[in-house]
This record gives sequence, C-alpha cells and structure tokens, in this order.
Amino acid sequence: MQRSRLDHYLLDNPSLQRRYKKIKKHVNRLIISGYDITNRCNLRCKGCYFFEGERSSNFNDDRTLDEFDAFFASEVKRGVTMPHFAGAEPAKVPERLALAAKYWNRGVIYTNGTLPIAPDLPFMLHISLWGAEETDARLRGKHAFRSALDNFSRDARAVFIFTINRQNIGEMAEVTDICAQHGTKLSFNHYSPTRWYGSSGTEMPNEIRFRGKGRFSGPDDQLALRLEDLNIIRGHIRELLIRYPDTLIYSSYYNERINSPDVLFNIDSQTGVATNCAILNSAHHREYRTDLTWDDADCCIPNTDCATCRHYVANYSKIMGEFHNHLDSIDQFDRWLEVYETWCKLNIRNWDTLD
Ligand code: SF4
Ligand code: SF4
Repeated sequence: MQRSRLDHYLLDNPSLQRRYKKIKKHVNRLIISGYDITNRCNLRCKGCYFFEGERSSNFNDDRTLDEFDAFFASEVKRGVTMPHFAGAEPAKVPERLALAAKYWNRGVIYTNGTLPIAPDLPFMLHISLWGAEETDARLRGKHAFRSALDNFSRDARAVFIFTINRQNIGEMAEVTDICAQHGTKLSFNHYSPTRWYGSSGTEMPNEIRFRGKGRFSGPDDQLALRLEDLNIIRGHIRELLIRYPDTLIYSSYYNERINSPDVLFNIDSQTGVATNCAILNSAHHREYRTDLTWDDADCCIPNTDCATCRHYVANYSKIMGEFHNHLDSIDQFDRWLEVYETWCKLNIRNWDTLD
C-alpha cells in the first residue's frame, strides 16, 4: 500500500507521531458550540463587542432554570461535547453554569475574572485582561486585573487572555512578568473592532446605545491596531516566548500568521462577512443568544467586522482547519501541529499531563 506524505512524516519522526496521536485521541470528537448565558455584566469596558451592536445584548434574558435545563439537555442530544460560555459576564449567573456542569465535563467560560466561579466547575476559564494595572482599570472602569489575580491566579483552569490594543502594546512584557510572578498562564488576543467601532453609538437604536453606555470607543480613544502595530506585536511575542516559556501559551507560527498585514479572511463584498471563517462554516457550531435562539449568520464574536477580525478564537480555528495546506513538508506540518497543540493547551484542562 502506498504511504501518504503524512505517514512518512510520522514514521520518520516518533515525537511528531506522539504529538499528532495525542491530538487525534483527545480532540477528534469535540463538537463546539457557543452560548451567551446572560446579558448582564458588572464592568463597562471600552470596545466591548457584546454591547456594541444589535447581535448580542438585544435579546431577552429571562429564561428560567428549567428552560436552561431542557435546553442544555437538547444540546447534548444534538451532539455538542464542548460548550463555550460567554455573555456579557457568565459569572453573573452561577446557577446556569452549575446546571451546565450536569451535562458537560469540558468547555470554556469567558469571564472578566472579577467575580468568583465555583471551583468544582470542570471548564477552562479564559480571563480577559486589558493591559497593566492602570490601563486595565482605565479601560474597564475598575481594577479588574488585580481582582482577577486575587480570584484565579492559583486556579489551574485559568488562562489570562491579554487583548492587545493600541493603548497597551507597550505593556505586554510587564503583564507577562506579573503573570509569571503569580504563577498563572497567559495568552494574547488582538483587539478586533466591531462594525460600529468609533461611532460612539450615536447611530444605534436607543435601547442598544443605552446598554452600551460607557463602553463605546470614540475617535479620541482609539483601541484599533494599525498595520505598523502588528510588526511591533510580532517582535514582542517572539521575545516573550523565549523569556517566559512556562507562562506564555502561544504559538510561534500563529504569531507570524496573525500579525500579517493582510486581511486574514476572504470577505464577501456584498455582505462584508467572511466566506472562509471556520466557526461560521462549521456544521455543528451554533451561537446561541440569551433567549436561546440562534442564527446561521452569527459567529461567536458578535458585531465584529470580519475584515479586521484577528480574534484568537476565530484565527486558531482557521489555521487548525488548514491541515491539507500544511502537508508539503515536514516543517509545515510541524507548524500546523504547534498551532493545534497551543489551542489544546488553551481549551482542554491539564493538556500537558494527558497521555
Ligand atoms: S468586555 Fe467588559 S463590558 Fe464587555 S462583557 Fe466583557 S467584561 Fe463586560
Ligand atoms: S469570527 Fe469569523 S464571522 Fe466572526 S467576525 Fe471573525 S471572521 Fe467574521
């Protein structure tokens, strides 16, 4: 029987084979879907995509626990094995999270880290972070980083996700060092503007503008990254990966790809929506809003502009879906595998100690 290129790579390189097999073993049957489980939040962050647009905070949040119970059961039946809980702030509804844990033993909670989350929940915690202490407090209206460190720095489920924006690029090293001193893991996300970015909400219906109050970024308060920022970010991450290998969860290849000056997705010129977004095109992925409805046109990052989307969830998924484009050489395959492994470290509990 003729061997495929992949077979050759794996047979010639036992370490590559072990890493690939581990992924096949633990990730093959993961079916991911996303759930906004509340539209309440205790912060008022500038540039928050949830409150900046009609595809997220505009839905009722009045479902009962019994309705959530039946809904989660139906999602398990539909085949979902890895839920991603977001919102606004999921920690505002601990009873809904506790219910979810009856149905799943894997998943991710996207949280701002300022409120407690039950230690027995079996989900990874991605804790949003907007810069070193002062910048974080200025952009979020509260010392969120400090509270999150107090709450979660010793929690093995936690990864701090520093969203890089124009105002905090110079703080990447300082924040990585703080995380290293606290023994907590860190990764980076790129700030990705919404379609209404910079409008200050004035063109929006009143009820949306009201909910977003204090969260819109005006023209004098820019967070959006410029092309020249991407080069600087790439350089910082290269350095930090060398200095903080035990703290930073990041992929070198992803660093090159995400900081490319190109538009990262193919965009439909009529709709402005990405035609090759792995999340949007996934057969099983649905993004449920707080009223438990969903729409085919929604990704997990509501209101975001596909043309400037550098969000880590979307871009890891995109590269992971490019398996066949990375088989021309063993080096290319190794790079693809490194991105996949990094995703596993971010999304699967205790990845490093699994067989
Ligand atoms: S970005 Fe800030 S305001 Fe928006 S949901 Fe997250 S914590 Fe709340
Ligand atoms: S995740 Fe996909 S659909 Fe959503 S904004 Fe990004 S590119 Fe567009």
